[in-house]
Amino acid sequence: MAVITTLQRQLDKLDNDRVGVLKQKLQVIQRILVKYVKCHKKSRLGTWSFIQDRWYVEPYSCTGGDYWNYSKTETCDIVCPKCNSENYIYNHPQKDKIVELVDGHHFSTANIFKEVTENFKR
Ligand SMILES: [Zn+2]
Repeated sequence: MAVITTLQRQLDKLDNDRVGVLKQKLQVIQRILVKYVKCHKKSRLGTWSFIQDRWYVEPYSCTGGDYWNYSKTETCDIVCPKCNSENYIYNHPQKDKIVELVDGHHFSTANIFKEVTENFKR
């Protein structure tokens, strides 16, 4: 049993280490500067707000449809913390970087951004 206990302690330590590394990684992502083209100010990604667009699928046949999908990150908006303006990610000069940071690391938008709101579009 002692061996099992020792191995379990090692696993617990690995889990703790993993949590710590993930936290550091998230902080690095949140500190990356994003510039807004209109006000020309740079702000850390973690201080922007994210607007998650949702789109509706009309009911069809007997059981299909009648639900809301999530729009892709590139077709959502982020809100500049300095001037409070919405910025369509698709038109942002740093679009690829923003999409990679948001989608490429398994962190939710709620974790990355200061605030997330949903925008339901019929
Ligand atoms: Zn701004």
